[in-house]
Amino acid sequence: MFEKLLVANRGEIAVRVMAACEELGIETVAIYSDADRNSGHVDYADEAYNVGPAPASESYLDQETIVETAVDAGADAIHPGYGFLAENAEFAARIEETDGLTWVGPPSEAMESLGEKTNARQIMQEAEVPVVPGTVEPVDSAEEVRDIGTEYGYPVAIKAEGGGGGRGMQIVAGPDEVDDALETARREGEAYFDNPSVYVEKYLEAPKHIEVQILADHHDTVLHLGERDCSLQRRHQKVIEEAPSPMLDAELRERIGNAARRGVREAGYTNAGTVEFLVEDGEFYFMEVNTRIQVEHTVTEEVTGIDIVREQIRVAAGEPLPYTQEDIEFAGHSMEFRINAENPGQGFSPTPGKLVTYDPPGSIGVRIDDAIAQGKTIAGDYDSMVAKLIVTAADRQRCIERAKRALRHFDVDGVHTTIPFHRLMLTDEAFLAGEHTTKYLDESITEADLADAVERWAGDVELVSGDRSPTRDIAVEVDDRRYTVTIEEGLSVDGEGSDTGDGASAGGVEGALVAEMQGTVITVPVEPGETVEAGDVVCVLEAMKMENDILAQTSGTVSEVQVTEGQSVDMGDVLVVLE
Ligand code: ADP
Repeated sequence: MFEKLLVANRGEIAVRVMAACEELGIETVAIYSDADRNSGHVDYADEAYNVGPAPASESYLDQETIVETAVDAGADAIHPGYGFLAENAEFAARIEETDGLTWVGPPSEAMESLGEKTNARQIMQEAEVPVVPGTVEPVDSAEEVRDIGTEYGYPVAIKAEGGGGGRGMQIVAGPDEVDDALETARREGEAYFDNPSVYVEKYLEAPKHIEVQILADHHDTVLHLGERDCSLQRRHQKVIEEAPSPMLDAELRERIGNAARRGVREAGYTNAGTVEFLVEDGEFYFMEVNTRIQVEHTVTEEVTGIDIVREQIRVAAGEPLPYTQEDIEFAGHSMEFRINAENPGQGFSPTPGKLVTYDPPGSIGVRIDDAIAQGKTIAGDYDSMVAKLIVTAADRQRCIERAKRALRHFDVDGVHTTIPFHRLMLTDEAFLAGEHTTKYLDESITEADLADAVERWAGDVELVSGDRSPTRDIAVEVDDRRYTVTIEEGLSVDGEGSDTGDGASAGGVEGALVAEMQGTVITVPVEPGETVEAGDVVCVLEAMKMENDILAQTSGTVSEVQVTEGQSVDMGDVLVVLE
């Protein structure tokens, strides 16, 4: 077994991995950026090293520095968590090639072959796993796209070869839209994934998103741990996940689970992974493999009793999985609610700020995965996650009752959160019946419903800006001599917009709408000279798999657009100026 493991990540998942290490008797090493000096994962680790400035590209994505840090710290393994470098085959290969270091994840070769979506589709077909109808080769011309449209019927989806999270996906309703969509998909693929190559598949009208958790060791055991239903999505991003799926019967569960096992076996896969499917009219279709631990692995842990992160580490150390497929038993029902610092009433725009109150619920069936505490600040540098609330009970109905109780007692003040959204969903008939598809949220829940929910359940929230850089004195003793050391306690958070929660007030320039977090520009739906109304979307920013609308706060005329699609922006950068 390993002696010391470096976690190349931050926040709750870094703490989750370290918790597994602690139970295995492995020492932990954290890395952090300038913005994270006082983050929960740094406090949790046995040792911590600064790997660079706040922008992820200069810290959490700096492969060379991370590997050097691991070597210098004497670590013998690296766990990437999710996001950042977790699905980067080049990073995995670099670790595989470094003497004394082990990558806690699948072989880099399997990551590479499954990361290319058409290649993954071919592998699945060889393993007799049904794939979403479409091409298994990249597509070059609009003509080929139209051929698919004619063959399978519109709509079709043009997807980036390197894509994921709904990014780089264009939905085409008819032949006239093909040219533009093809160009956009290519451009997004290039901007996000450095790969302009695209392919085409049928766009299913009302599918369920069902994914299967896989665990595979180096001793020929490939297990499935059942499915998760992640059909509740906002713009193709998961918001509530559950296990088991309310819409799968035992027979389909068995078939889909075994298909997932066949597929990853064909790819030479080991460690944990997720095979994602779309299910429609009782048929399932492979979509993609996520070659990492996922945010929502927790609900599977709850219904199987298996510590997936622990098994990831054991598998990487060469140990056999201590189960056969027959040993895997499912009990109860579990749901995960992502508690993010966002305002659901304003297009889920992030509201960084200080957690003046942070008092999560407890008691039976409630699990909180977080890396935060009352008084700390949610900065705008990374994703907006505050915590994951995981609720488990004997069956779905009781899980829902318990989740209502837990959310009612989840007290947060200082920032807006997604709690009112979750409470709304727990009163929603389609969700309660388990009938929702991936389209449901976008089509059926209105902005007004969301604004009402925020008013009802978070009407008295007072937004508080994060601390800039408060300091604190502590006493240390070295060789019996006492010293006082002044340390920086908080971290800089740009208070801009925190008082209104809209990310809109300007850094210096009047009428300027600025980026509240580091991210990538997805679209700028306005042009100079155009008039906008208060509440209109003027820019969509993507950060850590979340899409964030930047809204005009007042009506006015667009005088400047300072960014273009695909461009990376830092917190505080001006996006659009209104007059
Ligand atoms: P991920 O978010 O896991 O990286 P994708 O980007 O491939 O995966 O897909 C995200 C979501 O987009 C899916 O869960 C589903 O809601 C939607 N989607 C993707 N492909 C299709 C399709 N062919 N038909 C209908 N919906 C799709």
